[in-house]
Amino acid sequence: MFRDVLGSARNTVISPFKYLINLADTPVITLIYHRVTTLPSDPEMLAVSPENFRAQMRYLKDTVQLVRLESNWRDVSGPAVAVTFDDGYADNVLEALPILEEVGIPATFFISTGTIGSRSEFWWHELEHLILETHCLPASFTLEDEYFGRSWPTGDLKARQEFYLALVDLMTNSDVMQRSKWLVQLRRWAQSGVVDPEKNRIMTADELLRLAESPWVTIGAHTVTHTRLSSLPPDAQREEIIESKTYLERLLGREITMFSYPFGKRSHYSAETVSLCREAGFTKAAANFPGQSHRWTDPYQIPRHLVRNWPIAVFTKKLREFWTR
Ligand SMILES: [Zn+2]
Repeated sequence: MFRDVLGSARNTVISPFKYLINLADTPVITLIYHRVTTLPSDPEMLAVSPENFRAQMRYLKDTVQLVRLESNWRDVSGPAVAVTFDDGYADNVLEALPILEEVGIPATFFISTGTIGSRSEFWWHELEHLILETHCLPASFTLEDEYFGRSWPTGDLKARQEFYLALVDLMTNSDVMQRSKWLVQLRRWAQSGVVDPEKNRIMTADELLRLAESPWVTIGAHTVTHTRLSSLPPDAQREEIIESKTYLERLLGREITMFSYPFGKRSHYSAETVSLCREAGFTKAAANFPGQSHRWTDPYQIPRHLVRNWPIAVFTKKLREFWTR
């Protein structure tokens, strides 16, 4: 079966070890998407254009078995892929869902519930707006609070890009309170104009209901505030995990059994987080580092491959690599 997927992979370097492992136990490859839309700028590179997404889905439909994240993968007998989305952007309903339904692809959508129905963006989009899209900025910025003090030059685009990436990193590793304080300083500093409310819009509760109605869709939880769980004490972690589950269960009237960790790298959650997810009643939890799911893979740390805005030729090459490296 793997020869079918690898068929034209003449230029792909195949690890013999991986090939044998795959023959011994068929793995599932889980893909992670965030957005399906066309953006004027996308510094996080999380948006896939509808054209590329449709071509990617058609290729999957023609070449592999599509499995649901929540299904039992032990019975999978050929190359299989599970499609997932994180965060809950409105374009998931408006642009991704029609393509998934048209091609016939099941997908799991992990929703960060605190922003559903609110008009506020995720903090990384506000950073993008303040730092990269504001025309007249002062020549430097100093971040100061009781724990932290550092200055960055912001005089040209390159400096701003570096500043932006440094702040994304800092804020990924901070808690909600600290992040809010820094954002207040940044807003005061940038004196930025009005944001296009549609560009990075999170879905409304009505849109979430519409998404959940589709027979192709599974809804999963992704915390309330999208904070790195390993930075929080156990009680606060539990609250983030359980509150997002309860919100979705009340709104959708169904049990929510799938979870994904915000940011999802191994340092972004802890052994305690994994236990809390199990206790909360989730049966699988998805991470965000590359890898295959075998029968011995921890169901509470499902590896996922991030998909970029790849044209079909690049997507097929990457997909082959996901199996062979
Ligand atoms: Zn996320």
